[in-house]
Amino acid sequence: MLLGVNIKFELFDTGYCQQNQQMVFPSKKRGKMAFHSLVALLHHPAQGWMVFDTGYGKGFWDGTKSFPYRLYRYATPVHFHEEQEISAQLARNGVFPHDIKHIIMSHFHGDHTGGLWKFTESAIITHLDAINSIQNKKGFAAVVKGFLPHNVREIPPTQFRFIQDQRRIQLDERFYPFTDGYDVFEDGSVIAVDLPGHAKGQIGIFFQSLEHGIIFLCADSTWSRESLIKNEKPHRFTHFLMDNVVEFYDSFERVRKVYEMDNGITIIPTHCLQVYKEWAEGRYRECF
Ligand SMILES: [Zn+2]
Repeated sequence: MLLGVNIKFELFDTGYCQQNQQMVFPSKKRGKMAFHSLVALLHHPAQGWMVFDTGYGKGFWDGTKSFPYRLYRYATPVHFHEEQEISAQLARNGVFPHDIKHIIMSHFHGDHTGGLWKFTESAIITHLDAINSIQNKKGFAAVVKGFLPHNVREIPPTQFRFIQDQRRIQLDERFYPFTDGYDVFEDGSVIAVDLPGHAKGQIGIFFQSLEHGIIFLCADSTWSRESLIKNEKPHRFTHFLMDNVVEFYDSFERVRKVYEMDNGITIIPTHCLQVYKEWAEGRYRECF
């Protein structure tokens, strides 16, 4: 049954970078805005523990030590402490890297792959287009696309699994305007959907949490929930960051429609501080 499995869910903050808020909200005054990199921990009753993305981490620092990758650090000054590494935060909660059976990677930008190096035994589930877009990419060609080859250099190809290999299923009206998705574990529990534009092959996931209803982790299809509420699109200066501008706006519009439909789905963009604050303040808490 579609979303018939109750998945436990927790959110972690792995650090942030700061940018001019006009990049996201052209209507606002000049000022700094923090882009936190959130990681979601999920527990599936049969599949066990998994994470959605891996946030900032040691991999980000190691991967940006040398030129030209160092440009990434200059472009987005990052605030990160060792104890924020996702593996360290999970360990403090009694979950260790070998417990994480799956990592669902929304895309391979450096602020999502910084903690990947710790998970040598986890299957990495992603979109084939995402892998193809980073294959053999290095130097300037990589860094202008936000990709740090260092973070994936030691991952054997056998560690990857592609959502294209899972069955594609029809979604009901709750997910409108998303009409189909990939059944990640073939039990209807985690549905991956295409969110291209920000990065090639970007995916988001829907799942059901008994405590919090349907959760939609929409990755970087929007940087902020406020953008969905106000229907405010990012500044055109951000276009050069995007893999495909037309696809970005198409994905943004579909996520915004999910918000507008108000079907009780909680939308969580990876970099939204407001959503995280509400989470941390306990509005959605008490799941573990
Ligand atoms: Zn990204």
